[in-house]
Amino acid sequence: MPLKSFIEVHPESDFSIQNLPYGVFSTKVNPNPRVGTRIGDVVIDLALLDEENLFGKRHVFFADSTLNRFMSAGRGTWREIRQRVTGLLSSDNSPLKNEAMQSRVFVPAEEIQMHLPVAIGDYTDFYASREHATNVGIMFRGKENALLPNWLHLPVGYHGRASSVVISGTDVHRPRGQVALHGAPEFVASRSLDFELEIGFFIGAGNNLGEPISIENAREHIFGMALLNDWSARDIQAWEYQPLGPFLAKNFATSISPWVVTMDALGPFRVDGPKQDPAPLSYLTTDSANGYDIKLEVTLQSAAMDAAQTISRSNMKYLYWSIVQMLAHHTVTGCNMRVGDLCGTGTISGPTEDSYGSMLELTWRGEKPIALPNGETRKFLQDGDTVTMKGYCQGDGYRIGFGEVTGKILPALADRGR
Ligand code: CA
Repeated sequence: MPLKSFIEVHPESDFSIQNLPYGVFSTKVNPNPRVGTRIGDVVIDLALLDEENLFGKRHVFFADSTLNRFMSAGRGTWREIRQRVTGLLSSDNSPLKNEAMQSRVFVPAEEIQMHLPVAIGDYTDFYASREHATNVGIMFRGKENALLPNWLHLPVGYHGRASSVVISGTDVHRPRGQVALHGAPEFVASRSLDFELEIGFFIGAGNNLGEPISIENAREHIFGMALLNDWSARDIQAWEYQPLGPFLAKNFATSISPWVVTMDALGPFRVDGPKQDPAPLSYLTTDSANGYDIKLEVTLQSAAMDAAQTISRSNMKYLYWSIVQMLAHHTVTGCNMRVGDLCGTGTISGPTEDSYGSMLELTWRGEKPIALPNGETRKFLQDGDTVTMKGYCQGDGYRIGFGEVTGKILPALADRGR
């Protein structure tokens, strides 16, 4: 029998007692952002649990407005807190069964506002889905040259922009930039705005400059994961990306979901990734199962639609390169990661046309528009469109879910660019 809490949790809730993610929230009554966890529809104020001395010793970092200090406390503390909260939510003689205590430390989920959970120092985005890289390669270079010669030998990535990572629910203005559809550049609002379905992972333990993280130790450095939408302007990208990769096409916004799901919660859902052939170099080789069986879904709702429509279903297990390979590769030069750094997996596309993780692929560069139930069609995102991503692991009678990352496209800001 899976572990049960005395708090009622629907079997399809993302927030079972097996999950217990961490986030930063505030309420109208107490507008100070602080750290909480969630079970079912209840958010638990961990700063107040600490004040009540329910952890056995004080952990003042839960009163912080980010998770960084908690993350810095190290894996031993992460595990200790998780075990303690699990016990408080499941044991027969838990002080959290007391009604007065509940009214003090429990907050209904509908009453909270979530905040960016982590002060993100650096953000790196990878390109780890073979299906995505192949699809994009076919569209831009043709079938024969779909994967570039390096792709099967290393997890391709680029250094992104941390300052524009935003919390779910933040509206995103259509960016303006240079596009060159017919050779000569013009300055316009992007006409091919897209999303990218990704998972982000947060560094919880850094490394010293000059000391790479080995693939065997990589997982120990990761605190947890969240959903990530890497908004992308394809027309700006097409003109600017050679030779150094994307720049303005992706630096205007990256959205993440508010709850960080821990590596300990996700552990039971590790699976083998795709077979890697050719075998990677030894610094990228490990025997363990490093994929994650996380079901992913993207919905689109236009301003004229009453309800959101599912436009893609994918799974993190399709990724060719694993997150431990990404981290080992990132640091093999001695590059130092710091607590709070964020890495994105890259667009997670599956093998079938309904599992692609971007509009670029779903509509095959606009050749096959998506038909929406109210008669509208989409090649790329229009103003007023809302994109929402969800994800969960299915356990035996429970789920470990990520909640959602959502964002609405607003018109381009007034033209102040020239
Ligand atoms: Ca990306």
